[in-house]
Amino acid sequence: MQLIKDSYFIDVILPIPLERTFTYSITEAEFDFLKPGIRVAVPFGKSKIYTALVFNIHQEAPQVYEAKPIHQILDEKPIVNTCQLKLWQWIANYYMCTLGDVLRAALPSAFLLESESIISLDTNHQIEDTSLKDDEFLVFEALHHQSSLKVQDVSNILDKKNILPVLKRLIDKKAITVEEEIFEKYKPKLIRYVKLHETFENDEKALQELLDKLSRAPKQRQIIMSFFSMSTSSKKPIKVSELIEKSQATSTQVKILIDKHIFEEYYLQTDRVVYSNDGKLTSKQLNKYQETAFNEVKESFKNQNVALIHGVTSSGKTEIYVKLIEEVLAQGKQTLYLVPEIALTSQLVNRLKQYFGNQIAVYHSKYSLNERVEVWNNVLNNSTKAKVVLGARSSVLLPFNDLGLIIVDEEHEQSYKQFDPAPRYHARDTAIVLANLFKAKTLLGSATPSVETYFNATVENKYGFIELTRRYNDVLMPEIELVDIKDKHKRKRMKGHFSDRLIEEMTDAFKNNLQVILFQNRRGYSPIVECNTCGHSPQCPNCDVTLTYHQYRSQLRCHYCGHNIAMQNKCQACGSVELDSKGFGTEQIEAEVKQLFPDVKVARMDLDTTRGKHAYSKIITAFENQEVDVLVGTQMLTKGLDFRNVKLVGIMNADNMLNFPDFRAHERSYQLMQQVSGRAGRTDERGKVLIQTYNPYHKILQQVSTNDYRGMFNEQMDERYNYKYPPIYRIIKITLKHRDYNKVNDGAEWLSKSLRQLFRQNVLGPEFPPVSRIRNQYHKNILIKIPQKQSLGKTKEAILKVKNSFSSIKDFRPIRVILNVDNY
Ligand code: ADP
Ligand code: ZN
Ligand code: ZN
Repeated sequence: MQLIKDSYFIDVILPIPLERTFTYSITEAEFDFLKPGIRVAVPFGKSKIYTALVFNIHQEAPQVYEAKPIHQILDEKPIVNTCQLKLWQWIANYYMCTLGDVLRAALPSAFLLESESIISLDTNHQIEDTSLKDDEFLVFEALHHQSSLKVQDVSNILDKKNILPVLKRLIDKKAITVEEEIFEKYKPKLIRYVKLHETFENDEKALQELLDKLSRAPKQRQIIMSFFSMSTSSKKPIKVSELIEKSQATSTQVKILIDKHIFEEYYLQTDRVVYSNDGKLTSKQLNKYQETAFNEVKESFKNQNVALIHGVTSSGKTEIYVKLIEEVLAQGKQTLYLVPEIALTSQLVNRLKQYFGNQIAVYHSKYSLNERVEVWNNVLNNSTKAKVVLGARSSVLLPFNDLGLIIVDEEHEQSYKQFDPAPRYHARDTAIVLANLFKAKTLLGSATPSVETYFNATVENKYGFIELTRRYNDVLMPEIELVDIKDKHKRKRMKGHFSDRLIEEMTDAFKNNLQVILFQNRRGYSPIVECNTCGHSPQCPNCDVTLTYHQYRSQLRCHYCGHNIAMQNKCQACGSVELDSKGFGTEQIEAEVKQLFPDVKVARMDLDTTRGKHAYSKIITAFENQEVDVLVGTQMLTKGLDFRNVKLVGIMNADNMLNFPDFRAHERSYQLMQQVSGRAGRTDERGKVLIQTYNPYHKILQQVSTNDYRGMFNEQMDERYNYKYPPIYRIIKITLKHRDYNKVNDGAEWLSKSLRQLFRQNVLGPEFPPVSRIRNQYHKNILIKIPQKQSLGKTKEAILKVKNSFSSIKDFRPIRVILNVDNY
């Protein structure tokens, strides 16, 4: 390699899926200034300017192209640490994606200025999504998952080029807003304060005169008196909003005082994300079991970087985390506290805020861009406002500065794995790598650990292992009863989907003013409509699925693409009016409860009722306050909710989870049922769980009912050995997607044949997944199993080589090939 004197270069990461970094030339002055992690604007392609991130600075000219000069430097100092850049490299390497993919996932999009339009939800207006046409709905829906979209993204979602008419209609309906150029999107939020006008400040006499004069304007006088009492009780500046609240005035009345030059207004910049509640409670005194576990964790951290706490639901794991965080804080270091789904953890957020006040920052994708930038900067600067970061998956990508500890709560949760688009990382596994980069520790916690983590801890001894087998305060684990509904049907002891046992126990709970949770698995049992005459069921035109019936909107909807039509009153195929709804979802259970118990209040928690930003917490609060007697819900119910007054949990039908075609179906069923059961009887009253099933002798149900995690683990491990699944083998899933069925088929044939030459019987498929067409794209999967002694690095290299030859075949080039590593 030739060093050219007086030439300087940087390699940058561009936010596009390029395989490599790209080199630009810089001046000597820029060479002295730039560091890895600083953003630069660079020209790319014909006329586009991209925001790129400096990865490397050097003096080696690229060999195959001439480096263009950069456009401008965008930062004073790095916005990403070298540790993050190392982590990104690991992610790109491990999950077989590009650094650009990781960059896009990591940086809040406000950091990625581009000369393009950005589409986001119009937050000033609330619109009913039923007023939207199908294509409008798709865009609207996507914006609920991602805070902003580019024109190109919208075009991908709708699978068409000319999307401007759709955007125009959405703007007219006030559903979205479009910003043209977003150079420097981040606007610090300013807060309005008032102080006494300087003429009064040190002049008691003038002040007295003023108050006398105002005796005829009692409201204004009262505002000033409130102002005085506030300024004497605290020395802090006085916010207009607080003054208005204290004096029960209106903003106009305050404005009058400002106009009269009695008050003076001024603005201060403050972070958007502030918590008023920083009442520093001291953490709880641990009981002896918690104390032992706490010491065991610390002991294991002496020799190992990762530890697993397997503690039954309500054993007090969270309080142990709190103690560990306190120690890390005392060292001035940062803690990352990962949770599977931040929207569901308002209870936890409040609890942690009591202990850590404003040192805790919450980070998640539903936050606005500005809020995310603020947390980002606080984490980067190791500010006291972000010593403890509580966040979902993506917070593992924040630019930590001095990390001491990562807690991964509910480590078994599937939502830690990100599916689409790339980088498809697993946040738990990434967290362990991140912690190692900082020589920090990782604590995994769960009442139902994933089989791979338990294997790492107890079989491989890679992790420290700590057990908590009692609930806090010796509250008993709930009593679990299996109800054979086949037998109940035979003996006519069923009313709708409710067995006589379930009805008895519910009646009993209501009599004692206790609450009930009813759980219905989301998968498999969506209600559909079928014609009694010809058997036709309405299908989604874009996907290979039957539309789901939504009673309360009287609609048929597709759960994959959002397509919906009004409920039909005649069969589309034969015109018969005898339509029947089959299967049962949460809606039907809700309706049946109302019929069985007309006097009790029922609420429902599922994807439909929790759409809005605050919908979750509304339902949860209503249930906590006992305004609701029965909560009917799906998977969402399992996630770490802590209700005091729940006596009974009913699992409506255990079989559909058990029969799901996936090697993890049994493990997941166990976890799900244990977690839902854990919601019962958290105080002195022993809880009760009824599991309705056609198959009460199923091993998993026996294990759930006896709380036999180890039994479940051992049996699952046997199966994983026999059928070569994780944690014994690693798996990489390859998915091909295209709108042409034949193309996908031919491509998948070619690809699997080539892979089979390398990996023989460890290649499975190609196979169509249960839903093989989604949004007009056919999907076909190939699974590669990798034995432990086979090099993972070499295997991935070989797969990428085959993928490259595949994409060089003209016919196959338009097929999208997606690699998903550790697709658990
Ligand atoms: P887990 O995280 O294992 O499900 P939690 O930490 O949520 O358990 O504890 C369950 C309940 O017991 C919570 O309401 C918590 O406040 C209470 N609790 C746990 N440990 C203590 C303690 N040492 N002192 C007082 N209350 C405790
Ligand atoms: Zn029909
Ligand atoms: Zn669809």
